[in-house]
This record gives sequence, C-alpha cells and structure tokens, in this order.
Amino acid sequence: MKENQSEYLIKRNNNEYEVVIGLEVHAQVLSESKLFSSSSTKFGAEPNSQVSLVDAAFPGMLPVINEFCIKQAVRTGIGLKAKINKRSIFDRKNYFYADLPQGYQISQYKNPIVGEGEVILDMLSGEKIIGIERLHLEQDAGKSIHDIDPKNTLVDLNRSGVALMEIVSKPDLRSLDEVNLYIKKLRSIMRYMGTCDGNMQEGSLRADVNVSVRKKGQKTYGTRCEIKNVNSIKFMQMAIDYEANRQVDVLEGGGAVDQETRLFDNKKNETRSMRSKEDAHDYRYFPDPDLLPLELSDEFINDLKKNIPELPDEKKKRFMEKFKLSSYEATILVSDIETSKYFEEVIKNSDVKISTNWITGELFALLNEKNLEITNSPISAKNLSKLINFIKDGTISGKIAKSIFEIMADGDQDPKKIIDEKGLKQQSDPKELKKVIDKVVNDNQEKVKEYKSGKEKLFGFFVGQVMKATAGKANPQLVNEILKKKLK
Ligand code: ADP
Ligand code: MG
Repeated sequence: MKENQSEYLIKRNNNEYEVVIGLEVHAQVLSESKLFSSSSTKFGAEPNSQVSLVDAAFPGMLPVINEFCIKQAVRTGIGLKAKINKRSIFDRKNYFYADLPQGYQISQYKNPIVGEGEVILDMLSGEKIIGIERLHLEQDAGKSIHDIDPKNTLVDLNRSGVALMEIVSKPDLRSLDEVNLYIKKLRSIMRYMGTCDGNMQEGSLRADVNVSVRKKGQKTYGTRCEIKNVNSIKFMQMAIDYEANRQVDVLEGGGAVDQETRLFDNKKNETRSMRSKEDAHDYRYFPDPDLLPLELSDEFINDLKKNIPELPDEKKKRFMEKFKLSSYEATILVSDIETSKYFEEVIKNSDVKISTNWITGELFALLNEKNLEITNSPISAKNLSKLINFIKDGTISGKIAKSIFEIMADGDQDPKKIIDEKGLKQQSDPKELKKVIDKVVNDNQEKVKEYKSGKEKLFGFFVGQVMKATAGKANPQLVNEILKKKLK
C-alpha cells in the first residue's frame, strides 16, 4: 500500500522514458516432502541430510510425483484466478552444473499446469491488474557453497528436488512501487492458502527480473534484460533502478540494448552481464520419459476449488461492505491473513470504527517499533477488545486508554486490572465534576473575566485545569458541557 518511494526511476532523463518490468517468481511449494521424492524439505538442516537416492540422481532411480505438490500448484492457480490446465507435461531442461546431479531439471515448458491469471494491486490511485502468463512446477537445484573451503566448492543437495512454482507475470509492471505491491500481494495470496510461506530470507521466494525501457507513448516494448535470482524486494528495486538507467544511457548514447542475462551485485549496487543471447543455453527440452503427462479430472479441480479460503480481494470487499471500512483501511487489514484474523477477533465484541483506528494506529506502531509480527503481538486481541469497550462505554478516555495500552504492551494484561489497580477510571459523575469545575472557575476569576469579554480561546485553558486537577481522568465531554454552562 505504501507508495511513498516516489518515482526516482529514470530520473536522469526527465521522465521521458518508462520502464517495463515482468517478473518470474520462484515460490517454494509449502510441502513437507519434495516434488518427486519423499525427502524432507525442512529449512536449516545439516547439509546433505535430506537427500534421497532420487534427489542425488543415482542411476536407475525413478521420480514419483508428489500429489500434494500438484494440489498446491492448482490451489495457487485458483488463487490467481487462473486457467487450470487439465493436461500438463513435465519436461527435462538440460544443463550441466555441479549442484544439479541429474544433469537436467524436471520442469514444465510448453504445457504448464496453470495458464493465464491475474493479480490485483491495491494502489492509492485505485486498482491495477497485473496479468499472469503461467505457473509451472519445477524442481529446485542443490546449492554450491564457495565460501567454506578455500580450495574447493562444496555442494549441499538438501534443496535438490524441492518443488518450486514458477509464476510468470506479463510485462505489466511499470514502477518500483508496483513491483513492491505485486510481490507482497502474490505472497499474501499464497500465505492465505498455505501454498508458500513467502519467506524471502530463507529463499522461499525469489525472482528473475525482466527489465526494458521505452520512450513514453511508444507502443512496442524495448529489448529486455533478465536479472537472475534476486531474493528481496529491496534488491529487486535496486536492480531495476540501476538497470533501467543503464539502458536509458545506452539508448541515449545512440546504442542498442543487448538482450542478455545479468546478475545483480547488491554490494556494488549494479547489474553485470552474465551471458548474452548468443551464448544463451540451449536447454534441449523434451518430455521426461519417466513421467506420464499429468492429467487432472474435473472432480479433482473442483474439490480444491471448494476448499479455497476467503482470499485477500474477497475479504477486502467483505470488510468494506459489512464493516464500512475505507478501501485503504480494508487493504491494510487484509494484507496479511493473521492481521485480518486479529481484526475480526477484536471486532467480535467491540466497536468497528474504534477497533480499526486502534489496530491500524497504536497497535501497528507498537509492532513496528518492537519489530514483531502480529502473531507475537504483546497485546492479545481479547484484551485490546476489552480496552476498546472501556473507551466506548466511557469508563476511560482515549487519552488514558493510550497510557493503559502502553502498560499492556509490556506484557499482555487485562486492562480492567490496570484500571482498577491504578484508579484510572474516568470521572463521569456530574456532581463530582461540578465541584472540581467550580473550584477551577473560582481560582481563576481574572481569566473568567477575559473569557466573558470575548477571549474564547481561554476555554481550553479551563478544560486543561480541570484535567490537571483530576489527573486526566475527567470525562472530557462532560467537562465541556458543564464548563460551557458555568461560563455562560
Ligand atoms: P524466458 O524463459 O526467456 O525467461 P519467460 O516467458 O519465462 O521467458 O519470461 C519472460 C518474462 O519476461 C515474463 O515475465 C515477461 O513478462 C517478461 N518480459 C517479456 N518481454 C519483456 C519486455 N520487453 N520488457 C520487460 N519484461 C518483459
Ligand atoms: Mg526466464
């Protein structure tokens, strides 16, 4: 939702150019075992401790498809409002690398499991639809490690054979903000469905970033470069920014952009050529003879459709209609499934408007400050709901509520207990308040005169004095009413 990074892109050329971006996101399927073997996929295990003979490509080993991974891919496709292909084919993509023991990767080429779909970006300026070209399933490779042994490259095959979904967007993205929103929305959809944990630190979500530039108003696309394997949103943005400016410089210098594969160096903040189109790999794709074409029945697909949870777009719509939230409020409350659950838990027993303000205001600020996820919120939904009810029924003022909130933040406490122990209950007894107000007015006769002679600003002064005398506990509305009468 944040769109405050401004368009610093292509700043060197007075906005004459626009950037065109398409992403190939590799999302690790959330599954306990690999795509074609039963080895564990658990992150952080001892190197090479989760490698079956299939993953190590021992001769004679045969892949056996993991039905759960297929379901996850189809569910993701449903979440992307995409066409599910009832027949798809696994191909061998041949290349030779130390961390690829088979000498090929099993992937899907011409016939992916999922076809065209879409992702909706919730921009401040309205919605924008980003087209999805396809989603296909493939195996991950192992990992070469260059920084342990000074003389040798070591290989860890734990990742070898882990299921990935490659989600290819159309070249519909036009700015760094859109890239940010796109990745976040994609991740949110997959997290809602539990098909990918979206954990970028652990490499569960990486992207190849395709970038080209063109003069504004130009109908055709420019030549693209593909930046491989970028693993954070920030790096994607830095890489795109660098790359777009580089391409503009090439064009402005009278040159032409070469279609090539580039690497992003996040330490130097630049992209570097890896290989040009001329020496692009010839992967010699062909259908994997060890695997039959994958055929899905209508029943299989419909069963999965029936069990798709309410997704962010639908939830947003419901929140706006049912709870009268603004598009902005709804967007942030549904952006992550845990936040939406927390919100719904709070409003079960509390006022929606006040709850929305407190969650998006105080609570988000607190989580931000403590760098916590909402699932680890120091204040439970139940206790926040209680606090909100005390505001609503006038037991405490909004101001006192903030100080109670701070105490609650140090360890989830029942606000009632804090109010009782500290005697923070709002003074709402008109008789009591009248006494205090009488005294304030008596003690400040000079000011009363000034007020009555037209200096109306002084009203705030009297309110302040009453608040001071009651240690902030006086019910502000009542104070206003009684004071107004008294000073008339
Ligand atoms: P490849 O296998 O060559 O990477 P893919 O079809 O897998 O091809 O991916 C192409 C990606 O590049 C898609 O995400 C697409 O949106 C993007 N793309 C295609 N043309 C352009 C362009 N001119 N500028 C930027 N991105 C582009
Ligand atoms: Mg590619």
